[in-house]
This record gives sequence, structure tokens and C-alpha cells, in this order.
Amino acid sequence: MDFDQYLDSFPRAKLLGAPTPVERLNRLSDHLGIDLWIKRDDLTGLSFAGNKARQLEFYLGEAQQQRADTILITGAVQSNFVRSAAAAAAKLGMESILQLEERVPGMGDIYRRSGNVLLAQILGADHIGYPRGEDEQGADTALETRAEQLRREGRKPYVIHLGINHPPLGALGYIAGAAELSQQIGGFDLAVVPSGSGATHGGFLTGLRMIGETAPVFGICVRRDQKAQKTRMQNLLGKLTKLIRVDPSLVLESIELWDGALSPGYGQVGPRTREALTLMARAEGIFLDPVYSAKTFAGLLDLLEAGAIQKGTKVVLLHTGGQPALFAYQEELQPQSS
Ligand SMILES: *Cc1c(COP(=O)(O)O)cnc(C)c1O
Repeated sequence: MDFDQYLDSFPRAKLLGAPTPVERLNRLSDHLGIDLWIKRDDLTGLSFAGNKARQLEFYLGEAQQQRADTILITGAVQSNFVRSAAAAAAKLGMESILQLEERVPGMGDIYRRSGNVLLAQILGADHIGYPRGEDEQGADTALETRAEQLRREGRKPYVIHLGINHPPLGALGYIAGAAELSQQIGGFDLAVVPSGSGATHGGFLTGLRMIGETAPVFGICVRRDQKAQKTRMQNLLGKLTKLIRVDPSLVLESIELWDGALSPGYGQVGPRTREALTLMARAEGIFLDPVYSAKTFAGLLDLLEAGAIQKGTKVVLLHTGGQPALFAYQEELQPQSS
């Protein structure tokens, strides 16, 4: 199946340097007793955008089609998505307004100034604050209000919504991403991916099933617990399969989640996250990020311990990027990592 041709029915901006590399992690394979591969979607090309480059191709494509001049988007203070949207907007000659939500409690000055915040400033994006971090509907409504203001001023805003009640355009990028991976390494026994908004997990799973790849895809919860994430994934997969006119039963029975690596919560670094991050760096020289990819790798280690991943099997870990947050989490990472 030629996904790229199929996905051409959706407007798409060219942001990506694909295919991204796939590598075998030789030292970790020996260490863990599995045949471990990594899909380097931290290297998608656009300014550290990681997995968001694939997703933004479809949002920005629609924005271009609507002749938008300003992108509005909401996320955590250290969100990779909002910073990557600002980079994509810059590349396509649009302005951007980033709404930063208070999602992570107790973070200090470095969190508020370094990492993605610094990058967004360099990109010239406008910031607005939002006082809550668990109110998707409220955050979207605040963006809509701002967009309405801009319209009255004669501008053409395009809103990238957070809430699940909008078409999951970003997931289309991972339908293509799954096909790309499958062409690169053929079959595998199991894949491990992060599950946050669910666009990556949902698109990846759908893409694999569409080409007949039946390997389990474990979504590692990075934002909500397993129960809440399952509801979100069902909702997202229902919308995604409708968007591309695929039978939802192809994927709805295949939602596998693991929330054992989420603790102590979204955007918070516990000992297990730190251990996974340093293991990957010291064994393979690859940097994971503290919010998503280190937790995803920690989830893989958990699944191995729990016997859900069996020794000797071929496992693919999706690296979704996010490294700029390493600098924002300096205080959380430094004390124990020496
Ligand atoms: C946003 C993000 C994720 C989560 O992806 P979703 O598609 O929202 O589930 C994972 N890793 C990184 C680095 C991210 O920035």
C-alpha cells in the first residue's frame, strides 16, 4: 500500500527529512537479552521537532490551504509541540502564538526559561499563559477566543486544538511513519511507543495494521493513567479510522497500554526515568528526553521485567525526540546522574 499517495488527499506541508534512521542497539541488545532496534524520530530534521514534525505536516498543510497567517497552539511550558509549531510556522512564513499551561507543579526558574522556552523566544513566537494544566476544553476555548480577536483585526488564524473532539490530523503523520519503518526493517515482534495525546501511538498502530503488520504496539503512558488513556485512545482511533475510512475494528482491539513508568506524573522525573535516560546515554550514546522518551524506555524495561517482552525477541523502540527539555530539567537530572 502506498501511503504517501493515499495521504495526498490531505493537504500536507513539507517539513520532514524522512526516512529517519533505524539502528540496532547492539550493546543494549546484549545487556537486555533482546534484539533491540530504535527508530530515530528524534532526527526528523526540523529544529529538534522529533515526532511533532510528522504531525505538523498535516496541521500546517491545512493552515496553508486556508491561507492562515498565524498558528495558535497550546501545551505545557516545556512543550515540544508548541515550540516545533513555532519553528514550522517560521519556515512557512507565518506567525505563532503559544499558549503555555501550568501542567507541572513545583518547577523553578530554569524550567520556565531554558529549553523549549528559550527556543521559542529565539523563534520570535508570542506567548500567552494559561493557569490550568488539566483543562483541555478550557485551553482550546481560550485559543478560540484569541483567534476570534485576531480575525476581528483582519488576521487569519489557524488553531491546532488539544482536545480530542477535533479531527486527529497529526496521527496521519504516524500512519506514514509506520509504513516507513516497516519498509526499513521488515517484521518485528513488538514495538514500544509513547502515548501522550495518542496521535503518535494511534497513527503508528493504525499504519501497521493497514499494511497487515500484527505485532503488538505498547503505548507507554506519559500523561495519564492506563484507564484514562484507554478511553482517549478509543476515541482517537474512532475518529482517525473515520477520517481515513478504515474499519475501526482493525485497531480497536489492539490498544495495549502500560502506565508503570508514569510515576511521579506528567513532566516529573522519578528515579526510574533518570535510570532509563542514563542507561541509554551510557550504553549507546543516545540522548532521551526526561518527559517522554526516557519514560518510554523505562516502560520497555518494565515490560521486559514483567515478562510481557520475551527474551530473544525483536523489539523496536520509537525515539520521539524532545531533547531540548534536558536543559530545562537540569536540576532534576544533575544530582543523581554523576
Ligand atoms: C509530544 C511528544 C510525545 C507524545 O506524543 P503524542 O503524539 O502526543 O502521544 C512523545 N515524545 C515527545 C518527545 C513529544 O514531544
